[in-house]
Amino acid sequence: RGSVAPGTVVLVTGGARGIGAELSRYLAAQGAAVVAADLVEAVGDAGDPDVTHVQADVSDETSWRQLVTTVLDRHGRIDALVNNAAIYQGLGAKRPFTDITVDEWDRVMAVNTRGVWLGMRAVHPVMKAQGGGRVVNIASSTVHSGVPYFAHYTASKGAVIALTRSVAREVGRDGITVNAVAPGLVETDATRALNDDDYLASAAGHRAVPRPMEPGDLAPVVSFLCSSGSGFITGQTVIVDGGVTFS
Ligand code: NAD
Repeated sequence: RGSVAPGTVVLVTGGARGIGAELSRYLAAQGAAVVAADLVEAVGDAGDPDVTHVQADVSDETSWRQLVTTVLDRHGRIDALVNNAAIYQGLGAKRPFTDITVDEWDRVMAVNTRGVWLGMRAVHPVMKAQGGGRVVNIASSTVHSGVPYFAHYTASKGAVIALTRSVAREVGRDGITVNAVAPGLVETDATRALNDDDYLASAAGHRAVPRPMEPGDLAPVVSFLCSSGSGFITGQTVIVDGGVTFS
């Protein structure tokens, strides 16, 4: 009951690389039927034959309709949705909030916040008809720590936490739980491109558990939140950052 049951159908967005690829592999290794949706379907195919990769754009309403149809055609149900896809910046590097352009702001919000809302909206009728389901939204500990030069990203993830709470109250009666997981800094291609080596190395020093964080630190938490054992937990944000911020 504490981890995802074999046969559970899990849809993971942004599953082609980074944290999403690791979550997909971990859940598949536990026996889940994982569909990993990403802008580019081919990237994550190597090494995880148990994960089905499909193309989708989470910021697009039509793409969500097609994605839900694809998963239902293949598996007949959707037991869990992991809203992991996100972008860190619309165009280029971290920058002061005064230098973020409106286009950049809108793109980050469209993927990180609208994408999560669209995803929950698209799977809700399916989960309701099934009698329940699990939604896990990947937020960020930057919401709690207030990382500078990242205002659009941080705001988009704060909105994910707010959405999680609000939707949790609406769908609990349908047997659906909605929770967020807020990771600390994990080294992925994306975060290596954004942060210099000194910044990445210094992150571990701020942790109560002073070591680098890995995608594998998140996967068991997500698995639990996708399991039957987490059925009385909803609207929560689990911060997984080695103890930098405490809620
Ligand atoms: P990443 O950039 O390595 O992977 C994100 C994936 O999402 C990519 O494969 C990308 O193609 C996909 N994606 C982007 N836009 C999309 C769209 N419109 N539709 C479908 N797929 C799309 O990022 P990551 O570091 O693995 O982060 C994964 C999640 O974890 C994100 O939600 C991120 O905000 C969150 N997070 C990461 C960290 C970290 O330190 N890595 C910390 C806190 C939160």
